[in-house]
Amino acid sequence: MAASATTDTQRLRVLLRGAVQGVGFRPTVYRLAAKFGLAGWVRNSSIGLEIEVEGSSGQLGDFLLELKQERPRAAVITAEEVLEIEPSGATRFEIHFSDAVGPKTTSVLPDLATCPTCIQEIFHPTDRRFGYAFTNCTLCGPRYTIVLDIPYDRSNTTMQTFESCAQCRCEYESPYDRRFHAQPNACATCGPQIWSVPQREGITGPLVHAAQALAMGHIIALKGIGGFQLLVDARNSAAVNRLRERKHREEKPFAVLMPSLACVRQHCVTTPQEEDLLLSQAAPIVLLRPREHSDVAPEVAKSSPYLGVMLPYSPLHHLLMRESPFPVVATSGNRSDEPISIDNEEALDRLNDIADVFILHNRPIARPCDDSVARVLGDRPQILRRARGYAPLPVTVPHELPQVLAVGGHLKNTVAIAIGRQVFLSQHIGDLDSPEARGAFERAIEDLCRLYRFEPKLIACDLHPDYASTRWALASGLPVIQVQHHHAHVAACAAENGITTDYLGVAWDGTGLGLDGTIWGGEFFLSANGSFERIAHLRPFRLPGGEAAIRDCRRSAASLVWQVYGASRAEEIVEPGILTMLERGINAPLSSSVGRLFDAVACLTRVADQNRFEGEAAMSLERVIGKLCTAQTYTIDNRGPIGDWAPLVGAVLTNVQNRVDVARIAAKFHNALANWILQVARRTGLKQIVLSGGVFQNAYLAERAGSLLRGEGFEVFVHRQVPSNDGGISLGQAVLAGNYARG
Ligand code: ZN
Ligand code: ZN
Ligand code: FE
Repeated sequence: MAASATTDTQRLRVLLRGAVQGVGFRPTVYRLAAKFGLAGWVRNSSIGLEIEVEGSSGQLGDFLLELKQERPRAAVITAEEVLEIEPSGATRFEIHFSDAVGPKTTSVLPDLATCPTCIQEIFHPTDRRFGYAFTNCTLCGPRYTIVLDIPYDRSNTTMQTFESCAQCRCEYESPYDRRFHAQPNACATCGPQIWSVPQREGITGPLVHAAQALAMGHIIALKGIGGFQLLVDARNSAAVNRLRERKHREEKPFAVLMPSLACVRQHCVTTPQEEDLLLSQAAPIVLLRPREHSDVAPEVAKSSPYLGVMLPYSPLHHLLMRESPFPVVATSGNRSDEPISIDNEEALDRLNDIADVFILHNRPIARPCDDSVARVLGDRPQILRRARGYAPLPVTVPHELPQVLAVGGHLKNTVAIAIGRQVFLSQHIGDLDSPEARGAFERAIEDLCRLYRFEPKLIACDLHPDYASTRWALASGLPVIQVQHHHAHVAACAAENGITTDYLGVAWDGTGLGLDGTIWGGEFFLSANGSFERIAHLRPFRLPGGEAAIRDCRRSAASLVWQVYGASRAEEIVEPGILTMLERGINAPLSSSVGRLFDAVACLTRVADQNRFEGEAAMSLERVIGKLCTAQTYTIDNRGPIGDWAPLVGAVLTNVQNRVDVARIAAKFHNALANWILQVARRTGLKQIVLSGGVFQNAYLAERAGSLLRGEGFEVFVHRQVPSNDGGISLGQAVLAGNYARG
């Protein structure tokens, strides 16, 4: 394979940046170099994958071409540089050790679902990995949840304490093996093991124990990839209710793990795009429409129009589902609103009065990572909760950013760091209400900065002084830029879509502190050169009791009715104390929130009168539309910059009185909101419309607004890579703080 030192000899230096390590890139390069008789070397470094190849220009050309075609499936290349350098006269091709010095900008890969070849092995009785729960190869297996430092080498992972047996080492060292440098490579002889607690006499193995417990309606705590999951038979209403009670989660939908695609099809209506998403390497929970005759208990999805479904994504899950081939609830192993447990001892303690049986293992989890949630909107995936399988892949933004740490919002928190044009987002951390959650928030910041050797020069946070994230930022001692919540929403969506022109940003959500001190949430911004002009918004109304109105939808409903018709009609909805707040304007802040308008309409139509989790009432209102298809609409009066809901509320009340079908009322309400966006868009003269904020998790609204706008030639952008809800705020903060710092 020696390169002949003719005058034609050239040497190229190739640098691939992005998520390029631990995906089988080096063996591919090695194989291709051998095929074309090239000399040189390949190595992982802290900036990416570095290759030097030497040979004739024809061979080098073929090499580069094939390298493009044979890219490992999991690799995500964000930049590629090819440079010609002096030939060295080398005659061999080698794989070099990783270089551990220098800046750290290479991406850590997310955890990858088990590949088909590995699945075959664990179910093949004569394979040496038959039944082994920690099987993986260069194309699959854990990454982010086991990595302690980069470069991604075994000594920098939680596999560092397991010493490979001779056979595993042989696989690891052979460039022609599918496990060449698969860092977590292991087998039953040398790798991690599972066991159950309590241990039971006479049962052959922990997974049989788990299966028997599930069949009896018991609750299992399973140590998975990114933390503990709580599992229970999804067909067993009593068991699901017991889990709800013990976990203190009354209403929020549970996700379901299903053994196979065939099982998913039996219970849900799927499109090819949805099936691709289920089978993707990220293997997220995918929101699907349940079939009417599914035997999944109604207590699982509750008020949601969707059923969150995932397929097994680790050998442990595959093996468990083989023993229990039916839908199983799989939800984060925590008490409501607390971070997910990742440690055996901690889980045995914290989940002790929730789970009946524990399935534990001894491969440590480096950091918590919940299951991600995604769906297909308009034929393309959209991430709603970004964690396992996606974090910590960076989002590439249009402009270079200074070294900003963005600490996100308060609900569904994520944090982010900016390195050049890349923004690395943490996994979903959660609501920052509890001390445990705030601890997880601080650990995530520390972890992200340490992993990337990142020293923030600037902190970006929300404007709201009472968010735990804002308080942390202001106490950090570093320069802080406070970014308005809804500016951050639309900036995040614009940035991930690479928008560099002026655009109309529509930011609709529950609540966020506005620039005028009122609570915003129904905003239209004209964004030009990074500045925002609030060109339209929902007519403000009072939220009696402030925060209390977020949970109690009757308060928003009463407020609207009181404003239009006075106290006599509002008192049919709420008790006198709440009316007094409205009349005196005490503890009743003004809000332009579309989220609260949803609450009010849900209440007036008797669809829902409380939010036991964020967005519950709005979700119910979307669900009641069902299969109804209509263009009928109410009117939001928007002759001025203010969208007045008064005619809409009047029409809803009349329709309710006349016993109009609630599906129709709900559809007309959604349509009115979509029409309002179209009307504002027409007035601006801008062609690019950005939709962001938690309200756009509503698929009916997002699709309706999108199709109306596209019908008139507008270009519509929604979130794809980061959540539309407050999980995307950190990205927007990073981008805007970068803009403001640049001046
Ligand atoms: Zn594999
Ligand atoms: Zn082994
Ligand atoms: Fe928000």
